[in-house]
Amino acid sequence: MNSCDTTPLLPYDEALLQLTGAITPVARIVETELRQALGSVLARSIESEIDVPGCAMSAMDGYAVNTADLAAEGLTRLPLSQRIPAGGVAAALAAGSAARIFTGAPVPQGADAVIMQEQVEVDEQGIRFESRPSGGSNIRPAGNDIRRGTTILEKGCRLRAQDIGLAASVGLNSLPVFEAVKVGMFFTGDELVEPGQALAPGKIYDSNRYTLHGLLASMGCEIVDLGLVGDTLEATVEAMSRACAEADLVVTCGGVSVGEEDYVRAAIERLGELRMWRIGIKPGKPLAYGQIEGTAFMGLPGNPVSVFATFCLFVVPVIQVMQGRAWRKPVSLPVVADFDWPTPDSRREFLRARLVRQGSDEAVVQIYPNQDSGVLTSTVWADGFVEIAENKTVRAGDLVSYLPFAQFFG
Ligand code: AMP
Ligand code: MG
Repeated sequence: MNSCDTTPLLPYDEALLQLTGAITPVARIVETELRQALGSVLARSIESEIDVPGCAMSAMDGYAVNTADLAAEGLTRLPLSQRIPAGGVAAALAAGSAARIFTGAPVPQGADAVIMQEQVEVDEQGIRFESRPSGGSNIRPAGNDIRRGTTILEKGCRLRAQDIGLAASVGLNSLPVFEAVKVGMFFTGDELVEPGQALAPGKIYDSNRYTLHGLLASMGCEIVDLGLVGDTLEATVEAMSRACAEADLVVTCGGVSVGEEDYVRAAIERLGELRMWRIGIKPGKPLAYGQIEGTAFMGLPGNPVSVFATFCLFVVPVIQVMQGRAWRKPVSLPVVADFDWPTPDSRREFLRARLVRQGSDEAVVQIYPNQDSGVLTSTVWADGFVEIAENKTVRAGDLVSYLPFAQFFG
């Protein structure tokens, strides 16, 4: 088993390609009530069957007029011929008159402008005003927002509040979405104790379960949580089979290095196929990927920071592909480094970092002083990663690539 330790490191980009290329999207489609669809992935592109708005509407409270009726210069006086509230029905505008109209009310046929009420004086004879609006003023034409037949939402988008609102605006009360990806998870390590319990000597609290729960929930996954599993091959094989039977993807933390107490890889090798397990990134070198009878498996390292980092870098793209989304590598921003990183590493490094404003308005990026992969505090302090290419160093003032955490969780 230790001979594996000499396997060359798989470069980050290559690992990503292999991983995402091997994933089959979950294709179960469910028609879902609009409000329940928030956070789900749209399974078919949506075309609008109507114009929005359906007819010309007033954008103001005011008076609808025909600009041909306005005086060539000076004051225009017009009698009022009708009153059109929002939701009302407009008759055609009588020639040489104005209509009282409110925001969102249909503009009567024959009117081509709405004069704001602030610009108008009203008396018993009607209205008078000096303003000379051009045709179309304060009118939202039919189809101003959406034209019938246009695609309003693309297949594969993860539905946000505004997407749901847009679907409602064309009259849909449900959307076809992919069923949530089911992710099974368990955590290995005899040293682990659940929070809320007493901590015996030599034990630590299990934090990975909670980090992972939050990360998966924020991605809209259904979670099958098998909890803590002891460091034995039997227990690990048993948990792995149970998780695979229920889930589309199984994610574990710990037990994927080459130590005698690491049974996750051995369990995968017994049950299915292990694809790779040493990736040239830091934190997070030991990372297992496998397949057990149609269920994908990802074994993350145990160190809490490695869990967070490898989740962002590898589990997020895998889940996004499974969800039926078009995965795009997160866009990194070039930012000036406010730190030195003098020692090169053959692995690509992902330092926990955050943007700070320096001087008047220029942003620079700082890194957390302790980059040890056991220091979970660094992920709380940080807003993103600085990505440092293999064998590179950084001097303060250099431009570096900054990857905001938010990039991973859209
Ligand atoms: P392993 O990959 O199992 O060798 O674990 C690497 C390190 O991560 C060890 O220090 C473990 O104690 C720690 N670790 C493993 N799992 C967890 C967990 N669920 N929560 C917190 N720390 C963990
Ligand atoms: Mg362990």
